[in-house]
Amino acid sequence: MRVPGRRSPSEKLGDMVESQIRRRGIVDPRVLDAMRSVPRDRFVPAKLRHAAFRDGALPIGHGATISQPYIVALMTSALEIDRDGLRVLEVGTGSGYQAAVLAECGCEVFSIERVEALYDRTRALLSDLGYADRVHVRLGDGSRGWPEAAPFDRVIVTAAAAAVPSALREQLAPNGSIIAPVGDERGQVIRRYRLEDGRWTASDLEGARFVPLIEDARPETR
Ligand code: SAH
Repeated sequence: MRVPGRRSPSEKLGDMVESQIRRRGIVDPRVLDAMRSVPRDRFVPAKLRHAAFRDGALPIGHGATISQPYIVALMTSALEIDRDGLRVLEVGTGSGYQAAVLAECGCEVFSIERVEALYDRTRALLSDLGYADRVHVRLGDGSRGWPEAAPFDRVIVTAAAAAVPSALREQLAPNGSIIAPVGDERGQVIRRYRLEDGRWTASDLEGARFVPLIEDARPETR
């Protein structure tokens, strides 16, 4: 039954995309459609579901956050997904929201999370929502990349570091690009690195606040 004055999750999702994303200049139809398709409310903890469509990041436990919708859209758009089937490495699976948006954009996603509890929960959620065949998740230190699945057409890092780990650069395909927040707790900028004809170029997009990328001392993958 429709309660007058109450908006459904899909109406709220439409409003979120219109007012927070399209109106701020993100126009890539692939990204806008993907953001309308992924049920963001399923990726936030149950007790924060009322806040799922808010214009900000939310805590998801274990020191992690689900990024602000606009930042997810900005980074996805910056990846320049121009065809189906791009292989994308994500470092920092967290809630799985960014990975699901990439899957809806037509990518095959390889996503790594270092916190086991988040990895377990998110793997189950992505499977429940039907993303298991397009999003592969792994437990471990993503700063080492995923050598067995390399090379990647695109790399997205969703935790901040002073520099992009060299393993991620080495696992990028020719003419690929990396989007990553670079900086520390005091300030970060989302930067795009491109590998064109063997040369790296970098450009800065926008300021951001991501949780830190933690590089583990011991190898731990499964
Ligand atoms: N993309 C996520 C954002 C998660 S926040 C989303 O859409 O929800 C960043 C995540 O990076 C956290 O879950 C944190 O545990 C994880 N992380 C930090 N350092 C990492 C590392 N070296 N390898 C893999 N994951 C890491």
